[in-house]
Amino acid sequence: MTAQIIDGQAVAEKVREEVRLGVQKMKEETGYVPGLATVLVGEDPASATYVRMKQRMCEELGIRSIGHTLPADATQAEVQALVETLNADPAVNGILVQLPMPPQINEEAILNTIDLEKDVDGFHPVNIGRLAMKGREPLFVPCTPNGCIRLLEEYGIEMSGAEAVVVGRSNIVGLPVAMLLLKNNATVTICHSRTRNLAEHTRRADILIAAIGRAEMITGDMLKPGVVVIDVGTNQKEDASKKRGYRLVGDVDFDSAKEVAGAITPVPRGVGPMTIAMLMQNTLRAAQIAQEKALQEG
Ligand code: NAP
Repeated sequence: MTAQIIDGQAVAEKVREEVRLGVQKMKEETGYVPGLATVLVGEDPASATYVRMKQRMCEELGIRSIGHTLPADATQAEVQALVETLNADPAVNGILVQLPMPPQINEEAILNTIDLEKDVDGFHPVNIGRLAMKGREPLFVPCTPNGCIRLLEEYGIEMSGAEAVVVGRSNIVGLPVAMLLLKNNATVTICHSRTRNLAEHTRRADILIAAIGRAEMITGDMLKPGVVVIDVGTNQKEDASKKRGYRLVGDVDFDSAKEVAGAITPVPRGVGPMTIAMLMQNTLRAAQIAQEKALQEG
């Protein structure tokens, strides 16, 4: 058996098209243009690249992108003041604070400052709290976990009643994706670095989400035949045949896993493209929330 390949690139394009149309409709009906502000502190090249990618995507979809860069030695008060200015700016619907921040900055305090209605990353504790609670809905769901669920939905994978195993419990991926699976009525097991006999858990999974950050750690012999594998990992593996000296691999050993799984996301072109697409969706939603509020307030 060879697994069906879950095409994240194609699903991300579908999401982007939905956002493009939504932005266009908003502009036509109200003249309002959604805006996403990015906050970058320092010159970390990887962070700068991520911010540029997000800004470019905004431009492609008709979203206004407002970039702010502070020097690497910016103080807590300066970053905090910038976020507060963006909170008060009606042209800004979403605020994206690029992590990691330099060591003198308390990231948690900065993330807590972001207005709940502009928290397009979905990392505000109130949004995460609502995600965890039965009968409550967050305003925004974190982008990578939301992207994983959208992939399952697009491929018609039944979550209700399924045994879902999530490997990883980080605040940005493992934990929120587990909560989303639970909201979708899966029976969820969360594994982490202290889990004993990891393979015993992964072999029970109908749906396996790998968010570990360890190259090709989950191998085919750790899977149940027919499992749906969503591989969030993005790791660099040395590869002399590549110009840059490495290639990207997931947390799952694709070659052995695809012989056992029913469906699997590749790396790259799996979960990766979904993350930015879901961020754009959250930004449009933030603009819709702001519009509804403006209407109510007359
Ligand atoms: P993280 O914060 O480092 O969390 C890793 C998790 O894996 C932790 O919960 C850790 O357990 C667990 N873990 C580590 N070693 C393990 C082992 N041997 N067995 C079982 N569990 C183990 O990483 P993250 O931010 O969640 O990211 C995970 C991966 O996803 C990374 O490769 C990252 O680059 C990638 N990622 C991709 C996207 C995307 O858009 N595609 C977005 C975000 C992240 P403990 O909690 O016990 O330490």
